[in-house]
Amino acid sequence: MIDEKLEPLLEQVLGRSPGEPEFQQAVREVLESLGRVIAKHPHYLEHALIERICEPERQIIFRVPWVDDQGSVQINRGFRVQFNSALGPYKGGIRFHPSVNLGIIKFLGFEQTFKNALTGMPIGGGKGGSDFDPRGRSDGEIMRFCQSFMIELHRHIGEYIDVPAGDIGVGGREIGYMFGCYKRLTNRYEAGVLTGKALFYGGSRARTEATGYGNTYFVRAMLATRGLSFEDKTVVVSGSGNVATYSVEKVQSFGGKVVAVSDSSGYVVDEDGIDLALLKEVKQIRHGRIADYVALKGETHGALFVKSGEGSIWDIPCDVAMPSATQNELTGKDAKTLVANGVVAVGEGANMPCTPEAIRIFEHAGVMFGPGKAANAGGVATSALEMQQNASRDSWTFDKTEARLSEIMRAIHDTCASTAEEYGAPGNYVLGANIAGFVRVAEAMRALGV
Ligand code: GLU
Repeated sequence: MIDEKLEPLLEQVLGRSPGEPEFQQAVREVLESLGRVIAKHPHYLEHALIERICEPERQIIFRVPWVDDQGSVQINRGFRVQFNSALGPYKGGIRFHPSVNLGIIKFLGFEQTFKNALTGMPIGGGKGGSDFDPRGRSDGEIMRFCQSFMIELHRHIGEYIDVPAGDIGVGGREIGYMFGCYKRLTNRYEAGVLTGKALFYGGSRARTEATGYGNTYFVRAMLATRGLSFEDKTVVVSGSGNVATYSVEKVQSFGGKVVAVSDSSGYVVDEDGIDLALLKEVKQIRHGRIADYVALKGETHGALFVKSGEGSIWDIPCDVAMPSATQNELTGKDAKTLVANGVVAVGEGANMPCTPEAIRIFEHAGVMFGPGKAANAGGVATSALEMQQNASRDSWTFDKTEARLSEIMRAIHDTCASTAEEYGAPGNYVLGANIAGFVRVAEAMRALGV
């Protein structure tokens, strides 16, 4: 429900963003949380603060021409949305996926602004990407695409301006090609201009693991509020990229049993518990499809592959669900099934993977729900630690970096929980995250003037 004072404002934002359903969805959710804030602190309605927070500071759309292996010229569209710089340089990943359009990048940049604020680190919010589909492309094609993308992007970024990183379709290899191109174009070894770099040229230990580890820490903290732990819990993690893989790793280390993972082709159920080494072999070494997991393990050994469209990974009974694939992947119908099967906690590893209806169902059923902007903030928080190491020309140990990550996740959890309580909705992490993130950004914007 939206507060009546905020309704015209929401209408104005929605009217300004036709054809951008994901952005509209993200804005609606945040504004729904703000009713309680303006009731207590009406000054947040002044200086068009909320309107300004919903409008990106700058949106860049550019042509990305490149030459494929057959010698044909291909064209893609590149985006960088520099959403908010009140707390620090714009910060957020780059996504390469055919579904990318301006609305998706805007929703991601908007969410990123609050997520980054919640980390407590000095970073603003931004996001970028392209509708380029890396699937099936050769290494040479990926390199030429990344270089062409950076030839335009480099004039808009910098360690004090905007610091991109990876997201879906952009990992260490792509960051390397983009960094190499930036370095040649600018003649500067500006390590802090991109994060998610490999360790040997300025990356941070634990960055690859950070989002999955962080989400697991967050869920562990939620469980602890009810005297529960991961010990002997059955867990389903969707996705099989870095976020999913390192969630599986951390959940297992806490004594939980992950029984399913997925990719866009379908999902795998393994009642023995997902074999982490095999998952890494399939996804990180062979760059294969998730069905290969079953093929390699042998069907007689308790693993089963279900093709996409022939069932949902959320049909599998579990105590904890960690959606870590992509936006709106977990629907109201899935949420009903999970609740009927006794789910107790959900932690969003991806950005906005649960639909608004799914979130409502979890809330009504008393399921603990960690929204992505809080639960998956460990990735960008560790990016900020990478920037810190680059700025001081230092390189921390894995243990030191992970210890910082775990402290940050604890602080985010506690901030969301105490904010929810302060605003009369104990246990509502969506409200807590939206309000705490908003207040930090809004206070900085107010201090900086119009
Ligand atoms: N793409 C990640 C996210 O959604 C990480 C961004 C970053 O490290 O800048 O938060």
